Amino acid sequence: MKIADRCVVAFHYTLTNDQGERLDSSEGSEPLQYLHGFSGIIPGLEREMAGRGAGDSFQATIAPEDAYGEVDPSLVQEVPLDALSQIEGLAVGMQLQSRSPDGQVRVLTVEAVGAESATLNANHELAGATLHFDVQVESVREATDEEVEHGHAH
Ligand code: ZN
Repeated sequence: MKIADRCVVAFHYTLTNDQGERLDSSEGSEPLQYLHGFSGIIPGLEREMAGRGAGDSFQATIAPEDAYGEVDPSLVQEVPLDALSQIEGLAVGMQLQSRSPDGQVRVLTVEAVGAESATLNANHELAGATLHFDVQVESVREATDEEVEHGHAH
């Protein structure tokens, strides 16, 4: 069967950036599973998946706007160290989690630590990046009613 809405797809992938550096891969672990048509994966990759079938492999280049978006400068903020005093060993590259009032968890990357403040970046670490995927479709099946109801694969 061909990939369309309400299909559960399992696939292996390797993700590289423009420099050819490998960022992520499912190699050596279970294939990634998602419910097609429910935004379970980035939009550009979901679009590339449509119409493929089990056994297909393909390469796709996904622009930032179809992946994790462009870098939003307003998401980079200076925070006084006083406000971060409960964090042990605050250092550049550290990732902090913050919960917004509506309960959403955001990951903040520490970009710089100064004498009085730290620079925190709430952009997704792949924001602004063009992504290169190597994909192998392992299986395609119809989703169960429960999966469709939940909006994700089981
Ligand atoms: Zn569920």
